[in-house]
Amino acid sequence: MTENDIIAAIATAPGRSGIGVVRISGPHLDTVIAGVLGKTLPPRRAALADFLDARGDVIDQGIALYFPAPHSYTGEAVLELHGHGGPVVLRLLLKRALELGARPAQPGEFTQRAYLNEKLDLAQAESVADLIDAATAEAARGALRSLRGAFSERINELLRVLIELRALVEATLDFPDEELEFIKQADGHGRLAALKGKLAEVLAASEQGSLLREGMHVVLAGQPNVGKSSLLNRLAGEDLAIVTEIPGTTRDAVRQSINVEGIPTHIIDTAGLRESGDPVERIGIARTWAAIEQADLVVLLVDATRGETAADLEIVAKLPPALPRLRVMNKIDLLGRPAGLDSGNDANTVWLSAKTGEGIDLLREALLRVIGWRTSAGEGLFMARERHVQALRQAQAHVERAAQLTGGLELFAEELRLAQEALGTITGEFTPDDLLGEIFSRFCIGK
Ligand code: GDP
Repeated sequence: MTENDIIAAIATAPGRSGIGVVRISGPHLDTVIAGVLGKTLPPRRAALADFLDARGDVIDQGIALYFPAPHSYTGEAVLELHGHGGPVVLRLLLKRALELGARPAQPGEFTQRAYLNEKLDLAQAESVADLIDAATAEAARGALRSLRGAFSERINELLRVLIELRALVEATLDFPDEELEFIKQADGHGRLAALKGKLAEVLAASEQGSLLREGMHVVLAGQPNVGKSSLLNRLAGEDLAIVTEIPGTTRDAVRQSINVEGIPTHIIDTAGLRESGDPVERIGIARTWAAIEQADLVVLLVDATRGETAADLEIVAKLPPALPRLRVMNKIDLLGRPAGLDSGNDANTVWLSAKTGEGIDLLREALLRVIGWRTSAGEGLFMARERHVQALRQAQAHVERAAQLTGGLELFAEELRLAQEALGTITGEFTPDDLLGEIFSRFCIGK
C-alpha cells in the first residue's frame, strides 16, 4: 500500500544543534531533488551539496542522502538533507521542500508509511516511539529488542501454532461424523494445551516489558525533614539525574522520576497536600489526588528517631485503602539500629538510613516486589505496551474457553478465530484504523 503524496519534516529536535536533518518521503522525489540540489544523486551515498532556494541561491551546504524505493525507512523514495542545525536554516529547507510539492508530515507519518509498506509491523513501529521515549537504559535496550522483532517473533510463533490448529479444525468441520475422531487423531487438546502454555509465557514476558515502559508510580508521604530528598537521591543510585517523564503526562512539581534498577519510577510527592484557598494551588492538589488514584503503592517515610506522627497518620488515612503501602523508618544510623525488614499486617516496614545507604537495597527489593518485577527476566527482555498485554489476555480468554468446550467443533473454531484476531491486533494484522491513528499521532513529527 503506498500513499501518493510527498511528506516532509524537520527530523531533528527543535532548537540549535550541530546538524539538523530535513527528511522527505514520497513515491518519487525527482522534482524535489532537482529543485533543491540542481543535480541527480547517487543512491545511498553521502553527497556534499548546495541546498538551493527557488532563485538558485544557496540556503545551506550539507550532506544529501537519497534512498530510492523500496530500500528506505518508509519503503518509499526518501531524501535526507543534513544541514546546519539552526532553526532558520531548517525552516527554509523545509519551506523549499513544500514549494516543490511536499506537504508537512503528521506526527509519526514516516513510521506509519514504513508500517503500511510492511517495513515494520505495528509492534515494531510502536517500539520506535518507545525507544525515543525510553526513560532508562534498560527501557531503551528493551525497546530496541522489540524494534528488531524479538516481541513480534513471539507473537508470530503463537499465531503459527494457532493457525495450524484452526486449519485442522476447519478442515474437519465439513465432516461432522468425524469430529470426535479428529480431536483424538490430531491431538486437538494436546495442541491446545501447548498453545496455552506458550501464551502464558509470552504474556508473562510482555507484562515485564510493559513495566519497563510504564514504570511504577509511587506516592511518597512524609513530614518535612524526614529525609525524602535524601532517600530519592539514594534510590536513584548512580543515576542521580532525574529521569524524564513518560510522554503524555504533565510535568509538574508533584512528580519526579528516578531510575530504580532500570524501572522508571515516578514519585508523587504529597508534600503539597494541604488545605488551600488559592485556586491555582487547589488545581495542583486535585492533580496530586488524581495521580494518587493511579499509583501502585504509597511509601510513608518516618524519622525513626521520632516515630510516626499524627500528621503522618492523617495523610495515610486519606489515601485509597486498597493502595499497597510500605513504611520506611529512616535515620537508623542515629539509633545505631541495623537495617531490616519487618513484615506487618498493615504494611511492611523497612528500616534504613538514607544518609549511609544502609538498607536501601531492602527498599529497592520491596518496591520491585510490589509491582511484580522479576529481575531474572533481565536478558532477552523486550518492551511491550499495556495494549499488547490486554490483547494477549483476550487471546488467552478465548483459548481458555475453547479448551472448556465439550460440544461441537464450530464453537471451538470460533474461539480460535477470535484468539487469532486478538493476537493480530498486536502486530497490526487486525487493527482498526482509529487505533492506528491514535498510535501514530503520539509520535514526534519527523519520525
Ligand atoms: P526532606 O525535607 O524530607 O526532603 O528531608 P531531607 O532529605 O532534606 O533531609 C532532612 C535532613 O535530614 C538533612 O539534614 C539530611 O541530611 C538529614 N537526613 C536525611 N536522611 C538521613 C539519615 O538517614 N540519617 C541522618 N543522620 N540524617 C539524615
